[in-house]
Amino acid sequence: MIHHIEITQTTLNYIRDNSLRESNILKALREETGKMAECNMQIMPEQGQFMALLTRLTHARRALEIGVFTGYSSLCVAKALPEDGLLIGCDLSEEWVNIGRRYWQEAKVDHKIKTMIGDAKSSLSNLLDEGLAGTFDIAFIDADKENYDSYYESALQLIKTGGLLILDNTLWSGAVTDPSINDEETNSLRQINNKLHSDDRIELSFLPFADGLTLALKR
Ligand code: SAH
Ligand code: CA
Repeated sequence: MIHHIEITQTTLNYIRDNSLRESNILKALREETGKMAECNMQIMPEQGQFMALLTRLTHARRALEIGVFTGYSSLCVAKALPEDGLLIGCDLSEEWVNIGRRYWQEAKVDHKIKTMIGDAKSSLSNLLDEGLAGTFDIAFIDADKENYDSYYESALQLIKTGGLLILDNTLWSGAVTDPSINDEETNSLRQINNKLHSDDRIELSFLPFADGLTLALKR
């Protein structure tokens, strides 16, 4: 028996009507991003609110984000960090990050966000070279799906014991459960989902939320 209700549009609307607390600035960023061809990459607002809650729950001071895009998730997390907190956001696209920057400034959290533009693999290895292993409280993995395993391994080193890793899109619109789909992104997500299941370095929870959200707490 499935102890889980189907999330219909009606249910989602109900949840939204009874819980979403999106600020005007976040809403404006979501709407500006909504006009872009790549807009479906942006997290849903409920997820942003959940990530803000996780940031507060973990009393995070140092956050890492791999995949900033136009900065919606960065803004949610940065707002939830203390005044002296810091989020390091990695992305390839300066152009997309610059859209977010305007909203980070408007929300007065830009002083809490540092971006690293370039391939996230090298940004993460630079952070490790700088001696920042074990210094992050929370990390969000949301860049190219083919490199999730590499991002996971680096982020696991960068977070503290007891720190939280969040992996986005682990259900990939359901593609991971469809054996006829075998592209690189889907296979990479299947591989990381399978690996995490038996990875004794973490506590694990795979949430059927949004596009699949996996929580991994570093032991
Ligand atoms: N978290 C964002 C969505 C991220 S979309 C939000 O809340 O809106 C994925 C992002 O990963 C894109 O902005 C893309 O530029 C970035 N990306 C893709 N490949 C990358 C790489 N190799 N290194 C760094 N960033 C990459
Ligand atoms: Ca995503």
